[in-house]
Amino acid sequence: MQARIIANFRASVAVQIEGQSAIRQAYPLRSVPLLVAGDKVLCEEDGDVLRVHELVPRSSVLERSDRRTFKPLAANLTHLGIVSANPPGIDTLLIDQFCLAAHRAGVGALIILNKADLLSEEERESCDRMLEVYRSIGYPAVAIDTKNADGIDPLLNELEGRAFTLVGASGVGKSSIIQKLLPDKELRVGAVSAATGIGSHTTSVTFWYDLPGGAAIIDSPGVRQYSVAHLAPNIVREGYHELARAAESCRFGDCSHTVEPGCGVLHALAENTVAQWRYDNYCKLAGI
Ligand code: GDP
Ligand code: ZN
Repeated sequence: MQARIIANFRASVAVQIEGQSAIRQAYPLRSVPLLVAGDKVLCEEDGDVLRVHELVPRSSVLERSDRRTFKPLAANLTHLGIVSANPPGIDTLLIDQFCLAAHRAGVGALIILNKADLLSEEERESCDRMLEVYRSIGYPAVAIDTKNADGIDPLLNELEGRAFTLVGASGVGKSSIIQKLLPDKELRVGAVSAATGIGSHTTSVTFWYDLPGGAAIIDSPGVRQYSVAHLAPNIVREGYHELARAAESCRFGDCSHTVEPGCGVLHALAENTVAQWRYDNYCKLAGI
C-alpha cells in the first residue's frame, strides 16, 4: 500500500497510508534511501510492524547543498513560497536566486510580499510594480500582512492544490505566515508524537501538513533557513525565463547579451519588455 512520509525520525518514519487519516510509525528496510517529508513510499504489514519497502520516484526534491554533496530536505513539493518584507528589506537578487532554486528543484515559485502594513504609499507602488514584473514572467505574486491577516485569503487561493515550503531571509515573517495557515500546528505535531511514540526532539523535524483544498505545507526550522548555494550557469541561463525567451532571437548562438549586435535580450530591454533590474540581477548571478 502507498503512504506519505509525514515526518522522518531517522530510525523510523511517521506515515499516513493513502485514504486513511491515522498516522503510524513505520520502519524502512535497509535498501530504502534516506526518506524525507513528502516522500511517497510503498509499505507492507509485517506482523505488528509496518515496513517501508520502496520509495516511489520523486516528482521534485528540495536539496540543501553541503559543500559538494546535496542533502534532501523535502520531496514532492510543487512550489516554493518566496517571502520578502521590509524590514529586513526587499532584496530582488535573493528573490531571483530562490526562483532559480525552484527551477533547479523542478517546482514553481510563488512570490509573497509580507508586512504590507508597514509600506508607505510610495513604497507600496514600487512593490506593486515589482510584483507585476514577477506575474508577467509567470510567477503568481501576492502582497499580505499577517499582523492584520490582510491578503491571507488570496494567498490561500493561490496555494490551492499546491505542496509548498516557505523560504526567505530571517525576519521576513515566515513563522508568522505558518502561524496563520496552521493555527493548530502544535496539536498536529502532538498527534504525530502520540501515534508514533516519538515525543521529544520533534521541534527540528520536517513535517508535511495537509491543508484544506488539497494544499500542503512542508515546514521545519531547517527548511525555513533554506539558502541558495551554488547555482550552475545553465540554471541561471534557463531560470530567467523571460531572458531565455528573448535570447531565442539573438543573432549569435553564443551571445553574452551584453554588446552583441542583433541581441534579443538587449532589444527586449530597450523595448521595456524585460525589466532592467531582472537583467542586472541576471548579470550578477551569471558573473557578467
Ligand atoms: P521569520 O524569521 O521569517 O520566521 O519571521 P517572523 O515570523 O519571526 O517575523 C519577524 C518579525 O516580524 C516578528 O516580530 C513579527 O511579529 C513581525 N511580522 C511578521 N509579519 C508581519 C506583518 O505582516 N506586519 C508587521 N508589521 N510585522 C510582522
Ligand atoms: Zn543576446
